[in-house]
Amino acid sequence: MIIHPKTRSFICTTAHPEGCAKQIEKQIDYINAQKKFNGPTNVLVIGASTGYGLASRIAAAFGAGANTLGVFFDRAAEGARTATAGWYNTAAFEAKAKQNGLKSFSIVGDAFSDSIKAKTIELIKAEFGQVDLVVYSLASPRRTHPVTGEIFSSVIKPIGPTYTNKTLNFHSGEVSFTSIEPATDEEIRQTTAVMGGEDWRMWIEQLSEAGVIAKGATTVAYSYVGPEVTQPVYREGTIGKAKNDLENTAIQLNDLLQSQGGRAFVSVNKALVTQSSSAIPVVPLYISALYKVMKEKELHENCIEQMYRLFSERLYGEGTVEVDEKGLIRIDDWEMREDVQAEVMKRWLDLDTDNVNDLADLTGYQQDFYNLFGFRTEGIDYEADVDQNVDIPNLY
Ligand code: NAD
Repeated sequence: MIIHPKTRSFICTTAHPEGCAKQIEKQIDYINAQKKFNGPTNVLVIGASTGYGLASRIAAAFGAGANTLGVFFDRAAEGARTATAGWYNTAAFEAKAKQNGLKSFSIVGDAFSDSIKAKTIELIKAEFGQVDLVVYSLASPRRTHPVTGEIFSSVIKPIGPTYTNKTLNFHSGEVSFTSIEPATDEEIRQTTAVMGGEDWRMWIEQLSEAGVIAKGATTVAYSYVGPEVTQPVYREGTIGKAKNDLENTAIQLNDLLQSQGGRAFVSVNKALVTQSSSAIPVVPLYISALYKVMKEKELHENCIEQMYRLFSERLYGEGTVEVDEKGLIRIDDWEMREDVQAEVMKRWLDLDTDNVNDLADLTGYQQDFYNLFGFRTEGIDYEADVDQNVDIPNLY
């Protein structure tokens, strides 16, 4: 079938298999062009099909020669409906891994459930024996609690007063003001239940009890801090509360793993266009301005550059892992550089619909957004007929 993008606000309901495969190839090419590093051997990535989790999987596999097991929530094509981008990404990743003699396995299902955790443990036992790196990179709007069955929804809201700031419709380029009402205590509780650390802890405890975590293993989850303008809606809002919980969980997990020589970290990553970040109000305008400034300063990175730096220089670099006063790895260091933030904030005050293309990188934002779904990718003929039915070879 001929596949074009079909967008609805911040989501795209179609994905292009060849475009997604090309995006994977580009990420692998980037890693292959870098120096190899002495990294993990057998890696479990929870949330492995898009964004930071996918880039972690690629960096570990092609940068360190690791075997990988990816867990994610995606669906295959059905009739005239295309598969999701994460499905096509994984199919392309697995094909490339196989060509390079790397083992790779995938599990599709709800990572919050006990059954998917049990299935993962069985697969690790059968194929790897143990894993020495567990990457936790889930971003989800909902979670069903495995014990109580309660369904939690996460919301992106401020805590305290109503928050008003500029936001961007990245399809039309319109900059307008948006106001977000504060969260209730119940919404804070539910957001923390989805995006906080409880599920990460459950994963590590269950893997550990099953004896499938190797001695000296590492686990890492991802967080975000960001600039002053997004603080009320991000870091000081509901999602920030959840991230505080995630960061505190790293301390508990570090204690748990330390007896076996292992370690747990949270890495604070850079703001980038992913399916999750495009859903947050205000953030797309900030990202567009940030892209422009970082590109001008030749500091711009995408997920793959970030994850290569995280793995090769920090987690598996020489000496002890550099952390900030809260114990967090700061791979957002270039984003948060004083000169970068000062320039973004100067532009922020002036940004409007008329100057968004001059002061911010709207085109770069749009390009990255479409690329997430395999569109606007160089070398792909979007008028050609493609088969939307693609298999993931080692899917469980
Ligand atoms: P993403 O939407 O690209 O990826 C989320 C992944 O989680 C996908 O593989 C998806 O399939 C999987 N997933 C979601 N729900 C699932 C479920 N129930 N079961 C199994 N898999 C499920 O998101 P992302 O932006 O890469 O975010 C990953 C992490 O990085 C999050 O913790 C996020 O807060 C953090 N982070 C993101 C940014 C950013 O700007 N995008 C910046 C810093 C940190």
